[in-house]
Amino acid sequence: MQDLLALLGIDVEYVRGKGNTLHCLDEAGKEVPVIDYAGGYGALVLGHNHPEVVATAKSFLGAGSPVLAQASRQPAAGRVLTRLNDIVHREFGTTEPYYGVFSNSGAESVEVALKHAEFDRQLTVRAILGEITEHVALAREAVRSGAATLPDDADGDVDALVGRVTAANAAVAARPPVFLALEGSFHGKLVGSLQLTHNAAYRMPFAAMAAQARFVPFEQPEAIAKIAEEERAVLLDLRLEGGRVRVVERDFPAFAALFMEVIQGEGGIRAVTEEQARTIRRMCTAIGCPVVVDEIQSGMGRTGAFFASSLVGLQADYYTLAKGLGGGIAKTALTLIKGQRFRPEFDLVHSSTFAKDGLSLAVTLTVLDVLEAEGGQAYQQAAERGERLTQLFRSLVDAYPQVLKEVRGKGLMLGLEFRDLSNAAAPRLREAARADMLGYVISGYLLRAHRIRTFPTASAVNTLRFEPSIYLTDDEIAALEGALRDVCAKLGDQDEEAFFGPASAH
Ligand code: PMP
Repeated sequence: MQDLLALLGIDVEYVRGKGNTLHCLDEAGKEVPVIDYAGGYGALVLGHNHPEVVATAKSFLGAGSPVLAQASRQPAAGRVLTRLNDIVHREFGTTEPYYGVFSNSGAESVEVALKHAEFDRQLTVRAILGEITEHVALAREAVRSGAATLPDDADGDVDALVGRVTAANAAVAARPPVFLALEGSFHGKLVGSLQLTHNAAYRMPFAAMAAQARFVPFEQPEAIAKIAEEERAVLLDLRLEGGRVRVVERDFPAFAALFMEVIQGEGGIRAVTEEQARTIRRMCTAIGCPVVVDEIQSGMGRTGAFFASSLVGLQADYYTLAKGLGGGIAKTALTLIKGQRFRPEFDLVHSSTFAKDGLSLAVTLTVLDVLEAEGGQAYQQAAERGERLTQLFRSLVDAYPQVLKEVRGKGLMLGLEFRDLSNAAAPRLREAARADMLGYVISGYLLRAHRIRTFPTASAVNTLRFEPSIYLTDDEIAALEGALRDVCAKLGDQDEEAFFGPASAH
């Protein structure tokens, strides 16, 4: 990674951060300001070192408050959950309570959702098998006592029939869970969550290690019906009807959960429409599959609401939160689980040493205070600043149609897609595009020439991400405009020397 950063000319050291500005050191060791549009991969909704967040951390530590006091009463955790429930209820117009399981990173909060969904599915399967065991005992008894007869194909052997039913059920129950995720998704890079991340380069080397997901085409959520048909399985049960034992089929809960982002971040900043969200919700309800909405990147206010999913009316069974929840300084995450689905036993089988630490809880409470202050002014600010940036990007797409393809996203979660240059006349630009490096080359140029920091999204590398804090200023937007106009003009002219230096240097 160091070699790659050096090659791109972005191997700088940052020594200070405040708001949307990072300071790096130049060759002479002098501090140089850089405008940060990468925003900590989306974690800096409130910018670097937000004064209230920093003050909370200082006073928490200054007071000698306990950071780690696991398995004790932790009223701050309850306060975080009460505040988040208030937000869920306001944004989704529901009164259903959500429980919370704390963790330390985005991928971990996804793993918690994965585990809980599978735990819930296992308990459901066990309950169905328990009922079947009772029915089998009743049927066996009825046949032995002469009160019932067997189906014709059972050859009069009740033990053989019971053996067949039990073996078939054991085989079905042992199947791994099926998870659904959308094409283009990114849900983390730990062992379980990685299998929900669509990018094959990340996922495939580790495919043997965890349950697999079936990927649903982003534009065609109706495909869930076909997948449901393909994955359908049944458990066998015995019923007594009119003095006869009958073998009946019962639906097996094959699906543990569907995971989705309402605005895909690493997949190139792509938003699902209200219509797509409605279809997904309807189809998942029909097949009894809970919906996990991953708000790790889109949540905590940057789209103009705390939950981006509330803007498309999609109420989830689970939410995963991380990044901005820690105010840019705490590594904290949370999985919210709808009360109806929550299995209290889960709290006894899952734990994590650093989860729910006192410092993170104090920071998270301050983050929620800042976001919710003055009737949610922060959300309006995100929407308004996002609109300004969107207008800028639209005007650039109009001005440089040969260079820019489109702008996507909502609020302060925006992506600007550059056109593919893999057939460009300029050889070094062409090679960079063919190696999927063009976005990084542009990022390097923006940093070196304009002191602007951004990156491509992880799995759609022609799309640059813009996720500044809600405190983005007009001057910062103007600086970005100048820089992007310069990039577009130079790309339009195929001025590869601007991006790579004199040809002889390579
Ligand atoms: N889900 C989404 C939507 C994300 O954007 C990310 C991080 N980019 C993750 C999960 C994983 O979070 P982390 O890097 O904290 O594990």
